[in-house]
Amino acid sequence: MFDRVVSNGLIVTAEATCRGDVGIADGRIAAIGTGLVGREVIDASGMLVLPGAVDEHVHLQMPLGDLISSDDFTTGTVAAACGGTTTVIDFAEPRPGQSLVEALAERRAEAEGRVVIDYGLHMTLCRADDQTLAEVPASIESGAASFKLYMAYDRLRLGDGDLLRVLAALRAHGGRALVHAENHHAIAYLTAQALAEGRTGPENHPRTRPALMEAEAVHRLLALAWLTDTPVVLAHLSCALGLEAVRAARARNQRVWVETCPQYLLLDEQEYHRPGFEGAKFVMAPPLRSEADRAALWAGLAAGEVDTVATDHCPFFYATQKTRGLADFSRIPGGAPGVETRLALLYTYGVRSGRLSPQRWVEVCCTHPARRFGLAPRKGTLSVGADADLVIFDPERRVPLSYRTLHQNVDYCPYEGWEVHGYPILVLSRGEVIVRDGEFVGTAGRGRFVPTAPMESDGD
Ligand SMILES: [Zn+2]
Repeated sequence: MFDRVVSNGLIVTAEATCRGDVGIADGRIAAIGTGLVGREVIDASGMLVLPGAVDEHVHLQMPLGDLISSDDFTTGTVAAACGGTTTVIDFAEPRPGQSLVEALAERRAEAEGRVVIDYGLHMTLCRADDQTLAEVPASIESGAASFKLYMAYDRLRLGDGDLLRVLAALRAHGGRALVHAENHHAIAYLTAQALAEGRTGPENHPRTRPALMEAEAVHRLLALAWLTDTPVVLAHLSCALGLEAVRAARARNQRVWVETCPQYLLLDEQEYHRPGFEGAKFVMAPPLRSEADRAALWAGLAAGEVDTVATDHCPFFYATQKTRGLADFSRIPGGAPGVETRLALLYTYGVRSGRLSPQRWVEVCCTHPARRFGLAPRKGTLSVGADADLVIFDPERRVPLSYRTLHQNVDYCPYEGWEVHGYPILVLSRGEVIVRDGEFVGTAGRGRFVPTAPMESDGD
């Protein structure tokens, strides 16, 4: 007798789709089969049953100068849960002079008591001095085995020499690398030029961050990673030229994985030409690209060249925060909401439109993100012994997307007025029902820190 049985659903994993029951005991998956008996039965007839989705890239209550991203650890994880995501990975960013382990403890203290789903933390490495690199093993032991590296942004970026030192240190200790690749100097040059010419509107944002300058950074990063033999994950790849650089690296047998985001698959640079200041809603880095880039990313996703779809969820209020850059596009806080809509968007525009199989959808939204960051087999798939994080997904449910009804704490939705066809209706986290009929029914603070594990010597 199981605590709970999710019965008679169409179980979808990265490997297969089959009709059956999932038996849950003590918060874990105890059996997958037919005719399972439980104290409580959740009838999933006509529904898809999938692993809770894993979003490897979110920025909740993220400080940016004197602003802070508008979803905190509670509102952001409630929104994630309502959208079928049961694990998020956020970031710990050490302040100057602060040790990595202290930064991790401080960020965990911010999340504890607030998060409603399980969470991990990437460690941002924004310096490469001997002392910081000596702390990499301690960070890994403390549960942050993946490291965010930036090639752009003044406060965060690593130059090539520092990148080499960091990549070598990660290779030595099995640390995982997640890299923001854009050419910092080209962006600074083009931004200064635009402002000097009096071009200050949001439509200048994409013009100052061309796809070729992203691809240049991707290529340079992969060349440096080749030198140190370090596997890397590319964060939020947005363009076809970047994907070409990845292909070249794979052709020389490098281990590189690619993350993209729904916005790069579904939206394009036309959004920056909305009337007035509205383009600011789409100011994020890298920027939205062309139709051809979108097509290349979809093809790459279907073909297995793009490995994960994360959100880079980083919302700022349009009316009160994005307006910081009214007179200067370079001061618009970068980022957009998305943590709640990923699974339904990828189902509607991926699976329903015939671009992705249901298995591939689960693979890129659940299984690969967990595996890529050392959360598997506990997260990301439905197998005996895994945490009972499950999504009951109604493939026929139609939901119009609007910031008014979504749970994200922000005053706009990049997909406002779109209708998705297929939506999570019930979500379980470690066996507990936390979302019912699209509304959160759990408690704040129930989420737990999940350590990311270092890379095995085989690189996986
Ligand atoms: Zn990000």
